[in-house]
Amino acid sequence: MKTQSGAIERLEQSGVKPSMQRIAIMGYLMDNLTHPTADNVFNGLSSSIPTLSKTTVYNTLKLLARQGAILELTIDDKNVRYDANIFLHAHFRCKLCGSVYDLPVGSFKAMTVKAIDGFTITERQLYYKGYCKRCSAKAEKNGA
Ligand SMILES: [Zn+2]
Ligand SMILES: [Zn+2]
Repeated sequence: MKTQSGAIERLEQSGVKPSMQRIAIMGYLMDNLTHPTADNVFNGLSSSIPTLSKTTVYNTLKLLARQGAILELTIDDKNVRYDANIFLHAHFRCKLCGSVYDLPVGSFKAMTVKAIDGFTITERQLYYKGYCKRCSAKAEKNGA
């Protein structure tokens, strides 16, 4: 299984001990680059891992984000979302359907800000909002 070995590798690189459940959660995120919520991850895995608890999923996602194995996105104010794509990219959230899409960043310079003395940046997120392709026509009609 390609995803599984990739998941183990990502965990080890991030200093996370690869337990069976951690590998499954990491693998799920690598297979589903749609920015799933913790509930999505739980629902996606609970049938194949009946012993998996929601708490384990939440705690594992927090751990993976803290260790830099995944990104934690707060673009959606109701649900925290998770992203196995840890390369620099921006996010776009559709205001109508709520889907979160990846936006490629044109150049690394575009994401560069001037450092401020004494400030430590621990997180960097670039968000855009609007209407996705599917919803644009609908939004126009409703004058949204
Ligand atoms: Zn949409
Ligand atoms: Zn993303």
